[in-house]
Amino acid sequence: MAKKGDFRTLCVHAGELKDTQYGGAISPLYASTSYTFTDVKVGQYPRYFNTPNQRGLCKKIAALEGAEAGMIFGSGMAAISTALLSHLKSGDHVVFQNDLYGGTRNFIKHEFSKYGIEYSFAKGSLAKNFSVEIKNNTKGIYIETPSNPTLKIIDLKAISSIAKKTGIWTMIDNTFASPVNQNPISFGIDIVLHSATKYLGGHSDICAGVVLGSKKAINIVFASAKNLGGTLSDYTVWLLERSVKTLFIRVQAQNNNAQQIAEFLDKEDWVDHVFYPGLRTHPNHELAKAQMNGFGGMLSFNLKSFINSKKFLLSLMLIKPTMSLAGVESTALSPHLTSHALLNENERSAQGISPQMIRFSSGIEAVDDLKSDLFQAYKKAKQ
Ligand SMILES: *Cc1c(COP(=O)(O)O)cnc(C)c1O
Repeated sequence: MAKKGDFRTLCVHAGELKDTQYGGAISPLYASTSYTFTDVKVGQYPRYFNTPNQRGLCKKIAALEGAEAGMIFGSGMAAISTALLSHLKSGDHVVFQNDLYGGTRNFIKHEFSKYGIEYSFAKGSLAKNFSVEIKNNTKGIYIETPSNPTLKIIDLKAISSIAKKTGIWTMIDNTFASPVNQNPISFGIDIVLHSATKYLGGHSDICAGVVLGSKKAINIVFASAKNLGGTLSDYTVWLLERSVKTLFIRVQAQNNNAQQIAEFLDKEDWVDHVFYPGLRTHPNHELAKAQMNGFGGMLSFNLKSFINSKKFLLSLMLIKPTMSLAGVESTALSPHLTSHALLNENERSAQGISPQMIRFSSGIEAVDDLKSDLFQAYKKAKQ
């Protein structure tokens, strides 16, 4: 479905609720968990994902991704686990990208076998690496691009065409790109997932998730979601609506900062390698240009071996060495020590994660302040 209207206007106005009682400028918060029974099949109730604020916010986010319908969940993992379980049954098989978000990897590793669901990992990020894994019982392909933390790019059109030929579904975790930078539905991907804890929330104070797709796909997700119960409180739904109004300007600023920091680090002699799709030297720069509207606020880099990576993180003064990402404040972490600590050494090196790697999430601060902070931390961490 084509997007209707300018993205910036949709961020502010799509799905807003009118305050007909008092004429207030913003969507009223309807905190009620109980609504008058009317002659409908599904009454309004938070765990039915259909309260006024939930429906309003779904409309807004669906408009940003060009989706027919959507659902808001209590976390990114609630959205991801429910979308997957609703589309699978015992005996089915899914092909996953190898470098998955850690929580998703743990979910399939620990839960799928209990339900008799099979899976395999593509052995590379090319479309053919996915197609060779497809078996008779394969029901779908699940991808994440740009990937975490090495910012690999997967060809959306190629993946969706393989899936369409085989008659299977496709899901993407679009968290790293955000709806500002990438709209996978326009490339034929069926279901788009977001951890709204990241860019959609954007202020490191909301935990939420989103599933978007056709009405048919969302009906399938809903049928399981009302039983699994991963709903989001209307208070947080209302707060998330406020966040999404500034999504475009935040992500634009984060894109710009990330590009400039990637170019800066690329020239520094204490940095070994910079992973950022906006760099011309990135192996998939052209593909990223073709399928993304911006290269995103996330980048990674490897420090040279004479720098102690832990000391580097602890020496940062403005950039916070914290978990998570996508807030208006810049943050950095060591994937080796945190987000990917549960993987073994082989799994980490298969994904290209070295102990010298730093993952950087650009905030909206002045870029010169960020560069100075990175530089002074390097000076302190030289050994
Ligand atoms: C954070 C994150 C998730 C999980 O989201 P939660 O809101 O923490 O449950 C999923 N995918 C990606 C890419 C993430 O960064």
